[in-house]
Amino acid sequence: MKIFTKRLVIKTSKRFQIINITSEVEKAVKESGVSEGVCLIHLPHATAAVILNEYEPRIVEDYLKWIVETFRPGGGWRHDEIDDNAHAHLASSIIGSGRFIPISRGELVRGTWQEILLVELDGPRDRSVVIQVLGE
Ligand code: ZN
Repeated sequence: MKIFTKRLVIKTSKRFQIINITSEVEKAVKESGVSEGVCLIHLPHATAAVILNEYEPRIVEDYLKWIVETFRPGGGWRHDEIDDNAHAHLASSIIGSGRFIPISRGELVRGTWQEILLVELDGPRDRSVVIQVLGE
């Protein structure tokens, strides 16, 4: 079994932002040479998340609206006394900081409307994305 690891750095420019990283992940899968296996996308961060879903301007606005309404930045959280980003820790915990996607015939197995999206919850920052490909 092969294990291939690649680390990207994505610069975010806003406090809340959705960035489509699908093509970078697909490129890593090609570079790995793996044809049957699995791809892990992992953010080594506590205030960002990864989702696997549609990338269309209105739904992107809806994701961010849902995040703000659900996790309420400045909503009286205890952790805000330290660095004013409790909402980002909460959202990252619930949404998740990674995803697994199967690889078959050298391609990520994704639905038509499944893009790999980095969710910035407390930017702007430099975000690392660890892509690990395991397989044959
Ligand atoms: Zn914090």
